[in-house]
Amino acid sequence: MTSDEFRKHAHELVDWMANYLENIEKYPVKSQVKPGEIFRQIPDHPPSDPESFNGLMKDVEEIIMPGITHWQSPNFFAYFPANSSLPSILAEMIIATIGAQCMNWETSPAAAELEEKMMIWLKELIGLPDYFEGVIQDTASTATLAAIIVARERITGFNVNNNGANSAGILKVYCSEQAHSSVEKAVKICGIGKKNLVKVPVKKDFSMDPEKLGEAIKSDKKNGFIPCCVVATIGTTGTTAVDPLKAIGVICRKNDIWLHVDAAMAGTALILPEFQWMLDGREYMDSFLFNPHKWMFTNFDCTAFFIKDAETLIKTFEVLPEYLKTRTRGQVNDYRDWGIPLGRRFRALKLWSVIRSFGKEGLQNKIRQHIQFASRLKELILKEADFEILAPVVINVVCFRYIPSGHSGAEINALNEKLNHLLNDSGRIYLSHTVLNDKYTLRMVTGQTNVTFEHVEKAWELIKRTARNMKN
Ligand SMILES: *Cc1c(COP(=O)(O)O)cnc(C)c1O
Repeated sequence: MTSDEFRKHAHELVDWMANYLENIEKYPVKSQVKPGEIFRQIPDHPPSDPESFNGLMKDVEEIIMPGITHWQSPNFFAYFPANSSLPSILAEMIIATIGAQCMNWETSPAAAELEEKMMIWLKELIGLPDYFEGVIQDTASTATLAAIIVARERITGFNVNNNGANSAGILKVYCSEQAHSSVEKAVKICGIGKKNLVKVPVKKDFSMDPEKLGEAIKSDKKNGFIPCCVVATIGTTGTTAVDPLKAIGVICRKNDIWLHVDAAMAGTALILPEFQWMLDGREYMDSFLFNPHKWMFTNFDCTAFFIKDAETLIKTFEVLPEYLKTRTRGQVNDYRDWGIPLGRRFRALKLWSVIRSFGKEGLQNKIRQHIQFASRLKELILKEADFEILAPVVINVVCFRYIPSGHSGAEINALNEKLNHLLNDSGRIYLSHTVLNDKYTLRMVTGQTNVTFEHVEKAWELIKRTARNMKN
């Protein structure tokens, strides 16, 4: 491809991008293809002769787009959002064009220094204590793994790093029954073991019961285990329950345990003064993460990870082979030593573009709206006798189910599962589910970048109509 061809295709592509986003509601939200349908349409062998970009775009339209689930559709109410926004997309274009690999300060000083500054901006925006230092990670899963590894090295005096997992005794990690699966994945792969993850029971509101945490730690210590890390969640994935940081933090401090806080989606709500209560007890935190790539309009991937003791983090992860030695070491942040991968994308530019384009107030207004949509939706659901709310509506997630009279619990579960599939197969909205106290629960998240209350109302009408028309 020549530079002139690139220019022509790039201009056309920008129109394609704007058209896609303007017309996104015309696509079925959840892709309707069957397993293997895309795979079969891609040639079995790579081409031997060069092909044109126009040919590629034709295939993108015809083969790829039907196999896309449209996360940027305002009718996407599933999981947690993976929001993008126009300023974020523009920054991603610059990042791809520059194509820098930002492992060291020297490999692009601007990337390292902008990242350092963006972490300071985020820290101020969400109200973290000043002494935290931040770094961008690819995902919350990686950041939680990093946090647990650092906690492991702190408690074992770097024994596992140096001598292997057998030399450390049996470590224990604690999280609530509602914590994200990434905690379990992290203990599986860091040598602590799934068996040594203690899932602490939750209270009625699905937040961790700190009394039960205290009991578990006491009993583990009595049995010769080494409590290493507690992972508290601000905004669980099922219901956005908020674990009580202060009560948990007091227990951690007393027992010399690392407190890691996973606020992957809900961390964005901390930009609102009225949600700062979720950080009560922040003085006990050792590390904290949230995902601007979920609710803060910064396209995937971008996880903000903060740590009180960056020195221990660096000591855990640093490597210094000859080919990575630089003259600036010690004066600057070489972020390759702040996490697991060596290579790093220039993600800070997306944050810079998003934060500057929205401004703090712009971010606050949008997030506040999304939260209001959830509480208004809850009111609508409460009005209907054949629906019920299954968890407190704390932020932007509403958990509910259909309960027509005259059915057993198992039948109600089957009906709601069927309802979920009918709605998603319609292509008009996309919802996902969870199970709460053995009840199949529909989850509707009102946090997509461009969602309006009209979208929410229309979705609710569709849900009611579809439920009531089901053959029971
Ligand atoms: C989504 C989510 C994660 C995982 O996020 P990734 O960035 O995809 O790894 C972790 N914790 C919570 C609470 C989440 O909601």
